[in-house]
Amino acid sequence: MGREARGAIVDVAGGGITVEPILVGPPGPGEVLVRLVASGVCHSDEWARHNGNWGLPFPLLLGHEGAGVVEEMGEGVEDLSPGDRVVIAWAVPCGGCRACRRGAPRKCAHQISGQRPLRRARDGAQLSGVLQCGTLATHTVVLASQAIAMPDEIPLERACQLGCGVSTGVGAALQTAKVWPGARVAVIGLGGVGLSTLQGARIAGAEQLIAVDVVPAKLEWAKRMGATDTVDASASDPVDCVLRLTSGDGVDFAFEATGNPNCVRQAVEMAGFAGTAVAIGVPPVPSEVTLPWAGRDGGAYSRKVSLLVTDGGDPIPSEDFPELARRYRDGELDLDGMVTRELALEDVEDAFRAMLAGEVIRSVVRFDS
Ligand SMILES: [Zn+2]
Ligand SMILES: [Zn+2]
Repeated sequence: MGREARGAIVDVAGGGITVEPILVGPPGPGEVLVRLVASGVCHSDEWARHNGNWGLPFPLLLGHEGAGVVEEMGEGVEDLSPGDRVVIAWAVPCGGCRACRRGAPRKCAHQISGQRPLRRARDGAQLSGVLQCGTLATHTVVLASQAIAMPDEIPLERACQLGCGVSTGVGAALQTAKVWPGARVAVIGLGGVGLSTLQGARIAGAEQLIAVDVVPAKLEWAKRMGATDTVDASASDPVDCVLRLTSGDGVDFAFEATGNPNCVRQAVEMAGFAGTAVAIGVPPVPSEVTLPWAGRDGGAYSRKVSLLVTDGGDPIPSEDFPELARRYRDGELDLDGMVTRELALEDVEDAFRAMLAGEVIRSVVRFDS
């Protein structure tokens, strides 16, 4: 059976957010209906609000960082049961593409396809969940492969962050870049993703962790998450500062977690010899990056700098999410300090305002509040 629910909807590109009744389910073959307990608000929701849902039509059902409880299963779903606590993943290796077939599922190029049974109540319009999730709603339907079971010891209002921000940031450090023990690392942009990258680099054993942002409060948060140095990029040139903090060498790994093309260039410029720059943030479309390539003072070619792009931390959610939950339980990964605001679904528009104003690390909507 399907059910009535409420969700945060955007009708047209650039439009406002309305919270209104929706119709969810029943789940089809291979799908599950999930009652959400908590959902983070991520920059990619804001990106989708303006740029569209990666090829899926408006209206959008916002949200892609949710955790909840399985209520119903569609035909053929055998490894989940009603009552299972799950985090919803937006990227799941398909098993059939060229990357998956050669044993590199973290490079899977597949996007989840098809339409889920999600409709707006007042006119029956088909809704597309952002990144095929739609977690800023009391209930949603996703593929069973997207619903990753969680151990009991992690509260769902913390676990929801594993769905995007934390798995992206930690994955960028551990999976995409493969930060090594003793490395020097810089992270540009200290939102939920950037601070997770910083934590991932700390977990990997990085020796120096330089946090870069233009908001002083975020630099303070970064210190609590393990930053050894901070750079206020509103007051001084971040590339000069990072070079100075590394005795002129530059860092082994420079991550940009803003989506700003200028920050991609800065990441390349602050990477040292044979260093790696990693672009994480979703950029504006279209956008271009120009790089100093070769010259008397060096350039990306002269310094043998690699530029990598990560797709959400290149995750295998069924392996990574339980591992991140274990790291939380063991005190290696701070998820409590990342949630700086909790609010009700009705107030979700203000969470977007606060995110854009840089007032929060993560706002989490609680559906039990
Ligand atoms: Zn996200
Ligand atoms: Zn694949």
